[in-house]
Amino acid sequence: MRLSQYFLPTLRENPSEAETVSHMLMLRAGLIRKLSSGIYTYLPMGLRVIKKVEKIVREEMDKAGAIELLMPAVQPAELWKESGRWDYYGPELLRFKDRNGRESCLAPTHEEVITDLVRREIKSYRQLPISLYQIQTKFRDEVRPRFGVMRAREFIMKDAYSFDIDESHAEISYMKMYHAYTKIFQRCGLNFRAVEADTGAIGGSFSHEFMVLADTGEDTIVACKSCPFAANIEMAEVKDRPLETPFHTSSSTSPQEVYTPNMSTVEEVTEFLKISPQRLIKTLIYESEKGPIGAMVRGDHQVNEAKLRRLLGLNQIALADEDTVKRLSGAEVGFAGPFGLREAILVADNSLKYTEDMVVGANRTHYHILHVYPHRDLSQITWADIRNITEEDPCPRCGKEIRLFKGIEVGHIFKLGTKYSEAMGAHYLDEKGKLRPMVMGCYGIGIGRTAAAAIEQNHDQFGIIWPMPLAPYQVILLPLQMHEPEVVKVAESLYNALEERGYETLLDDRDERPGVKFNDADLIGIPIRINIGIKNLKDGMVEVKLRNQKEVTKIKIEELFLFLQKIVNNG
Ligand code: ATP
Ligand code: MG
Repeated sequence: MRLSQYFLPTLRENPSEAETVSHMLMLRAGLIRKLSSGIYTYLPMGLRVIKKVEKIVREEMDKAGAIELLMPAVQPAELWKESGRWDYYGPELLRFKDRNGRESCLAPTHEEVITDLVRREIKSYRQLPISLYQIQTKFRDEVRPRFGVMRAREFIMKDAYSFDIDESHAEISYMKMYHAYTKIFQRCGLNFRAVEADTGAIGGSFSHEFMVLADTGEDTIVACKSCPFAANIEMAEVKDRPLETPFHTSSSTSPQEVYTPNMSTVEEVTEFLKISPQRLIKTLIYESEKGPIGAMVRGDHQVNEAKLRRLLGLNQIALADEDTVKRLSGAEVGFAGPFGLREAILVADNSLKYTEDMVVGANRTHYHILHVYPHRDLSQITWADIRNITEEDPCPRCGKEIRLFKGIEVGHIFKLGTKYSEAMGAHYLDEKGKLRPMVMGCYGIGIGRTAAAAIEQNHDQFGIIWPMPLAPYQVILLPLQMHEPEVVKVAESLYNALEERGYETLLDDRDERPGVKFNDADLIGIPIRINIGIKNLKDGMVEVKLRNQKEVTKIKIEELFLFLQKIVNNG
């Protein structure tokens, strides 16, 4: 492709809306443009990257025995009512009525439609197992779309679904996908890890997420330093274990209110009372479909909302707003506590069981309560593991040290069991003629998110450094003096020769200064750059510069192709 005739609008300045490196570089390098919140156009260069990811995904899905089809984005409400998710899914599901008043939605995922298809077409054990997949546009009305295509509202997903005769066969299908996913992210050149994960709104019995390791990741991953345990922090269990040395021993003092003017955060209260955050109990108020919840953890701990949700069998929970907190606690935000918290289900983290002489909010503005002994003073409370694991906690599997790091979820696989097949009547006849529900699995990969995650992992201050397998073009030719006929001639002939040999090549034939061309080449991150300059041409040489290395190599034009072949093959 000739840059002079291409559509590659690059930006010099950092766009202010970009919160992460990948978002900023995708805008600057002319890969995407925003249409509205969470809705993006892929520009030609961005589309090439997306197609690279899709190609790898398709090849590995096909190898794993999955068969491609394409399902509709607009789906009738009836199917979602059959599965029970019309009510369950919440506001992320974009719902609307057509001209005949029929309720519909834009699909965030396709379990309902695929289950409907399979229940109609597959009747016998002889037709199973089957895995079907598509690469298609999803819509999720995310609360906070951000980071460009990483958390968009409209995005491209590869979703696959497996149908088996029983649990053990379903596990085989699951493992096939697990291995295919491993291959896919390896081939994309990503540094990633598969971790145990929560099943969330999709449901099902167990699942793994594929996490690209990056400091900007929204997910926290827990991994053991000694054993293979690795999980999303949402899932990582904290073992219930008594503290070796309780803070205080006497339990004779009774609770006592203390004036803490305007002290509403953990730091303010603990500094004011001259106590460590471990002596404070934070009470967070949540709202849920079962009513308000008061969740208590130590001042230095964090509530784990996924654990709380699973514990109480809830669909969704969210921190209560200011007015609700005021209504329930009778106080401003920052002074809530367990005593007299109206209507709320009270849950306290296990670690509080072993604490003594604690401080809690008084449910009265500007007041806290001293000398609380949780095992003595907190009655009618559920004790459970509701906090995030920390690096001070032992591995839940082997008891050794753990580490926390950040990740971007690029893929997610679920063992669904019979949740959808039973709700929607996807049955087959077994060998004995008995009707049984199919056992399902579902498997997603965010195509755009994978491309963005690759940038998070591969960039420098000048721009993107594409791993060869995802690069929109493999080679960029920079004729440095467009007014020199010899330079132009060599550039043209190299361009033709490269294209003929199957290299995806960009020719920067714009009449720009070398500095501009160098900057743009660095920004868009093409792995191999060839500089064609009048000086080197006199010796029959060109310069080769790899985007992921500093050195520039001078090379004889005759030797160029052999050199390139080695780089691309190793890429
Ligand atoms: P998240 O927790 O990040 O919202 P999810 O668990 O809702 O993800 P799944 O339902 O498992 O996601 O979807 C499969 C894959 O689709 C994810 O692993 C991710 O790569 C991608 N994906 C999900 N939501 C988005 C989004 N809003 N924008 C871009 N990609 C997404
Ligand atoms: Mg989500």
